Parts: sequence; structure tokens; C-alpha cells
Amino acid sequence: MSGLLEKYNDVVGEDVIGQLRELADNVGEISVVHVNSTKYGGGVAEILAKLVPMMNELGIRTSWEVIEGDEDFYQTTKSFHNALQGNIVEIPDAMLRNYERINERNAEALRDKLESADIVFIHDPQPAPLLKMTPKRKGKWVWRCHIDASRPFRPVWKYLRNFVVEYDASIFSLANFAQNLPHMQFLIPPSIDPISDKNIELPANEIKSVYKEFGIDPERPLISQISRFDRFKDPVGVIWAYKIAKKFLPGLQLILAGGDAADDPEGAAVIEEVRMAECGDPDIHILLLPPDAHRKINAIQRASDLVLQKSIREGFGLTVAEALWKHKAVIGGNTGGIRLQIFNHHTGFLVDSPEGAALRIRYLLFNRDILRQMGEKGHHFVKNNFLITRHLREYLTVILSLLHSEFSRIVIG
Ligand code: UDP
Repeated sequence: MSGLLEKYNDVVGEDVIGQLRELADNVGEISVVHVNSTKYGGGVAEILAKLVPMMNELGIRTSWEVIEGDEDFYQTTKSFHNALQGNIVEIPDAMLRNYERINERNAEALRDKLESADIVFIHDPQPAPLLKMTPKRKGKWVWRCHIDASRPFRPVWKYLRNFVVEYDASIFSLANFAQNLPHMQFLIPPSIDPISDKNIELPANEIKSVYKEFGIDPERPLISQISRFDRFKDPVGVIWAYKIAKKFLPGLQLILAGGDAADDPEGAAVIEEVRMAECGDPDIHILLLPPDAHRKINAIQRASDLVLQKSIREGFGLTVAEALWKHKAVIGGNTGGIRLQIFNHHTGFLVDSPEGAALRIRYLLFNRDILRQMGEKGHHFVKNNFLITRHLREYLTVILSLLHSEFSRIVIG
């Protein structure tokens, strides 16, 4: 034991950690494999980086595998992502065949691990076909969808569903993302790690260093959005909201920070759109941060007066929980997982347009007591609902229910 879990005692209490150990004892000596498509960037990587060591600490042999693809593969999976979140996209057959071929290659490379694992969690559509390509699997397989799949573009979902139906279970973040599937479906919202570099308390001078490093005036209000440069995150809408709000708050400053996830081929085009919208305003700071800039992001969120997450579709939005945890009110898009976290008028505001966001920015920056109260409520809301210890408990519960479900898998061959 490395004492990793005990580090959470002060945040969540010893009982919570004791309960995790009890659940893990019931799980017993099994092996678990998580598979996704990127080691850095985006919420899935953020969560697995924490969840996997914690599962190992509980005595569950857990590994995290990352599939590899070529440019066409990531182009296709980005189209899947866009289609599951409702965009109409056409994907040529050749691209689909390439997607399947790449999965076959990855299945081959991971063959031993995938065949022998007791439980396999496949994250999102990128590695979904691995199950079909592992006919001698011994364990139970779960498809974990992190995407807002409430209104998927049907032809693409129909294609992906062919792979997903064969899983033993699936996990969605929200009830209205769940699909018509012939297996158990679990609802588990994601979580943040309160003691990670991204979320830990920082000394005041480290927070202040953000002002100097990025040329921010500490005497003037600062708002920020931290997100991959993805159209669903609506960075251009954030700039419009800022510009409208600035008419009433001439000193307003904005940080838009992101990097692009390794599996996101559209990032560069979106950054271009953001630069066009910025129009040389010296109070807009567009930051392209490296994937390990966790403490810097932490400091930016803490240095902000309020935080935006103006997405138009959002599976969950870890950035919302991260900001709320730091006692910051959040103005977020009225969509998907943001609705789970922003309790409208209590932990922030849900908005449907740049104009709506601007109105709320103006209101909160002129009503500092309400801003502070919302931040306080947000912190408690996250503490009670969206910390990694709750997430881990629910994963253990899924594992237990799969291990003890009455149908065991028939191994072919
Ligand atoms: N993030 C980061 N660097 C960036 C942009 C985002 O570390 O440049 C982090 C962010 O703090 C959050 C995660 O990546 O922890 C994004 O998760 P979220 O659920 O908000 O969105 P996703 O990218 O998964 O759609």
C-alpha cells in the first residue's frame, strides 16, 4: 500500500475510504483493463490518470491501454464524436473500413491483455470495435460513453451500435444519454480529483504569478474558459459574450486556454476562428498550453472572478466541476452534463446564447456577494457529488454487479 487513498481522508473522510476498501475486498483478485485513444488532453485521459492508480492501490490489477491510429482514423472518430452529439456527418465507406482495420491492428497488439482481463472498460467510440475483434475474450466488457449522446445522428449511431450491442453493459453520464441497447446500462457522472495538481489548493503567490506570466491586470476583472478548441465548446461564443459584457465593464479581461487533444484533428481550424473573432483585443488572452499544465490551469481558474463553459453540447464538462470546486461561480451552456453541475441561480447560470452569458457576466461582476455565495454553494455541491472517490465507488459497484450477474460469458474456440 502506498497510502494514496489515505491522502483523501482529509477531504472526504475516513469512512468513505474504508467503504472503498470493503468494496474492493468483495471484488477480489481480478484484472481490469481500460482502453481509450489518448493519454493526454480531454476529460477521459484526465479521469483515467487518477482512477487507474487508485484501483491498483485497492489491489485490483488495472492497466490503461491507449490505441494508436493514423490521421484518417482520428478524422473518422472525430466525425463519430460530432455525429453522436447531433451533427449531420457523412463518413465515406473507405474511412469506416480504415477505422475497423486500425481497430483490428490494435486488437492484435493488445490480444493477450484483452483476452485474459476479467473486466474491460472501452471508452468512447474510438476503440468500440475491439470487442468484436477479441472473440476469445474471457471477461465482461463495458462500453463507457463520455459523449452527449442524447440526440445522435441516427445513421452513424446505427453503425456504431453494431459494435456496442455485443457489450455486457454500458455506462452513460446522464439518463437522457442512454440508448436502446440489449444490456445493462449504468448512469455514472464523471468526477474530479481534489488532490491533483489541477485542483489542489495553491499558494497565493502561485495564483498571482498568472497575472505576470500572461499580462493580466490584477486590478481588473478576469473571466476564463479552459477547453479544447472544439466548436462544441463554443470558444467564439465566449468571445462574443465577453465583447457584449465589456460594453458595461470596460476593464474586463478574458483568458481562453486550451491545447488540442492528440485525437482532435479540428483543433487548428477552431483556433483560427478564435483568432479571427478576437480581432486583436489586447484584453483577450488565447493560451495554447502544454498537456501537463495542470497547476497553471488550476492557477488560472483560481485567479478568475468567474468561469465560463459555454458549450453547446457537453458530455459532462470536468472544467465546470474544477471551477466550482475552487469556489467559482460558473456560467455554462444549458446542455448535457453542465445541467448536472450548474444548479441554475445557485451554483451559477445556465445560458443559451452569448447575449445570455454576457447578461450573467455583467450581473455577477456587479453583485459580488451573490458571486461569492454561488461559489461557496458550488464547492459543496462538487464535494458531495463529483469527487473521484464517488466515481471509484460506482465503478467498483459496476464491476461487482458484472462479476455476479447470472449470465457468464461463453468462450468460443
Ligand atoms: N484541459 C487541460 N488542458 C487544456 C484544456 C483542458 O488540461 O488545454 C483539461 C481540463 O482542465 C479538464 C479536461 O481537460 O480537466 C477537459 O475535460 P472536459 O470534460 O471539460 O471536456 P472534454 O475535453 O473531455 O470534452
